[in-house]
Amino acid sequence: MFAASPLLTHPIKRSGQPGQDTKGSATLRHLYLHIPFCHKICPYCSFHKHGLGGYDLDAFVTAMVRELEWASRHWNLQPHSIYFGGGTPTALTTSHLENLLLALHRHCDLSQLLEWSCEINPRTITAEKARCLSQHGVTRASLGVQAWDDSTLRTLGRDHSPAEALASFELLRQNGFAVLSLDLMFSVPGQSSEDWQYSLEQSLALRPDHLSAYNLNYEEDTEFFEQLRQGQCQLEPQRDADYFQLASSRLSNAGYEHYEISNYALPGKRSLHNQAYWRGSDYLGFGPGAFSTVGQWRWKNPSDTKLYSDAKTSPQSLAGDFEPIGPQQRRTEAFAMRLRTTDGLEANLIHPDQKPLLHSLEEDGLLRIEDGHIRLTLQGRPLVDSIALGLLG
Ligand code: SF4
Repeated sequence: MFAASPLLTHPIKRSGQPGQDTKGSATLRHLYLHIPFCHKICPYCSFHKHGLGGYDLDAFVTAMVRELEWASRHWNLQPHSIYFGGGTPTALTTSHLENLLLALHRHCDLSQLLEWSCEINPRTITAEKARCLSQHGVTRASLGVQAWDDSTLRTLGRDHSPAEALASFELLRQNGFAVLSLDLMFSVPGQSSEDWQYSLEQSLALRPDHLSAYNLNYEEDTEFFEQLRQGQCQLEPQRDADYFQLASSRLSNAGYEHYEISNYALPGKRSLHNQAYWRGSDYLGFGPGAFSTVGQWRWKNPSDTKLYSDAKTSPQSLAGDFEPIGPQQRRTEAFAMRLRTTDGLEANLIHPDQKPLLHSLEEDGLLRIEDGHIRLTLQGRPLVDSIALGLLG
């Protein structure tokens, strides 16, 4: 967990007060902007989010623009990828979105930009917002469909119908985004195998460039977790594995590369931003609750949107929970994340003491060792977390 740390060595604390031109030599290639507003709260969601009521969106956007301006004085912001996530970025009005997009153009050198993503909620996207995002450089739209049948959508507490999701997808397609991605969810209580297959088929009929298929997790502090605790629903590991395999084989047969446990892409359409996380690259997060990892430090902005919006200086100067992360920790994190990908993990990173376990996992058909890399098999992928833990020793 995060702990107070010797801030004197932290780049933010060393490099002077906001307003001074104290730009250092570090170049940041991956930026994440967290927009925490949602029209309706889904019962499974553990992200930092809340409704719009009682919040001043002007103040929020002004604070985020101030944070961007401040960061541009401290680092060279020359991103390869930018990601608008949340929450629901499209819960903002068009003019608020435009202000943020323009601020990124002002405060970053976008000459090296390869991908600019925005999460989209079918209920809140409009033709005007789609046009605004596309015209200001967003290249990748990720639509939170979750399911194509009414019953699963109702269980998930989603605020859109299948017809609205379809209309949103067509709207995004008309606006010329280079990559369209769909988010789906499986192992939802009450979701039959036929329901899951139906969602996969409906998605494939649209031929999106990218698909994310997430196994429902019961995260603490969510309504679903409480239902699980009270015995109103059960964990079903066999169903998780069956639905995972159903998705993997159907999407692979349809030409999608299963390049990470939950992610599938047509050739050349993988998410650059997510791959940067999985490789353990540095990234800078903006907005309430956003994490940043730069060099030997990780820190978190306050998870309090009002405090964030009201900050008179850069909201990042309020950041707490600084955690020093040494090379060993970064290696460990990268180790677990690389095991999630089909590129795999370099076999020489395994400590000799863990070699017997490695070979027994190989004999059990859970992983393969090839070209000096460890790659999980289809059977091993749903078990990635426990396999990573075991191999780390
Ligand atoms: S719309 Fe997305 S971020 Fe908002 S509550 Fe639902 S899952 Fe969470």
